[in-house]
Amino acid sequence: MDAYQKLEKVGEGTYGKVYRAKEKATGNIVALKKTRLHENEEGVPPTTLREVSILLMLSHDPHVVRLIDVKQGQNKEGKTILYLVFEYMETDLKKFIRSFRQTGESIPAKTVKWLYRYMMFQLCNGVAFCHGHGILHRDLKPHNLLMDPKTMMLKIADLGLARAYTVPIKKYTHEILTLWYRAPEVLLGSTHYSTAVDVWSVGCIFAELLTTQALFQGDSELHQLLHIFKLLGTPNDEMWPGVSNLTHWHEYPQWRPKHLSTAVPNLDQDGLDLLSQMLQYEPSRRISAKKVMEHTYFNDLDKDSL
Ligand code: AMP
Repeated sequence: MDAYQKLEKVGEGTYGKVYRAKEKATGNIVALKKTRLHENEEGVPPTTLREVSILLMLSHDPHVVRLIDVKQGQNKEGKTILYLVFEYMETDLKKFIRSFRQTGESIPAKTVKWLYRYMMFQLCNGVAFCHGHGILHRDLKPHNLLMDPKTMMLKIADLGLARAYTVPIKKYTHEILTLWYRAPEVLLGSTHYSTAVDVWSVGCIFAELLTTQALFQGDSELHQLLHIFKLLGTPNDEMWPGVSNLTHWHEYPQWRPKHLSTAVPNLDQDGLDLLSQMLQYEPSRRISAKKVMEHTYFNDLDKDSL
């Protein structure tokens, strides 16, 4: 780790601290993620190696945060520490949305319209790339989407890392273990979940980008489901074949579906159509990330220049 000079701690994720650091040889600024390996294991476990190679493979996509290097070191107690060296990104979508809430009104409507499309297109591009390589993110949320505020470039972070780490060092805080972006099939206990879980999260992020408020803000799995049902209607076997056979299915209060414009009033018709396809209950009917990119919502976007 002598190659890097730690500058300051920029955040703390589920599995360890993140530092801004300088590569001494080049002066390049990087993000160092410090992780602890499994207590009783010697060397790097094969699962970690597999996950790191997945990250290295996916890092070739412009919308996946680039893993530059992996370094192994030891802490004061002689425990093995793994440092993941990533390209440094100035901000994340969570912080961006928060600042947008404060300053957004002063941004011209045309720019805002373009911005929504640009952000969503990049996100779906990155997700489609991961899915194309057989990788599910499983925890997409604004906090995990890193951004360069100068170019508005968006990159997916924390990809498949969960399996590369040992148990979380700290207890989950409410903020980290958020349920807000979790697909209904996961909340209902489905074990065969697929790429559709990420598309659900993208749909929730899409709505949040527009309203600057999270779409479904549940504080327990039950509340999360009830929030979803209140907007999209309580599902049944007609709307979603097999739903009543899922492990966590109960009798729920009955709500009728509301129009999505009640929740996202500032979204145009094309956008509402896209959002409704992302928030389809039945996972197999949910639009794929690749198909999202072909949706008419993005017609005005100069895709080639991206
Ligand atoms: P995470 O473990 O990915 O949830 O990251 C925890 C914190 O570190 C978040 O607040 C991120 O904004 C920050 N962070 C993670 N990766 C990077 C990176 N590549 N560049 C800059 N900040 C990062």
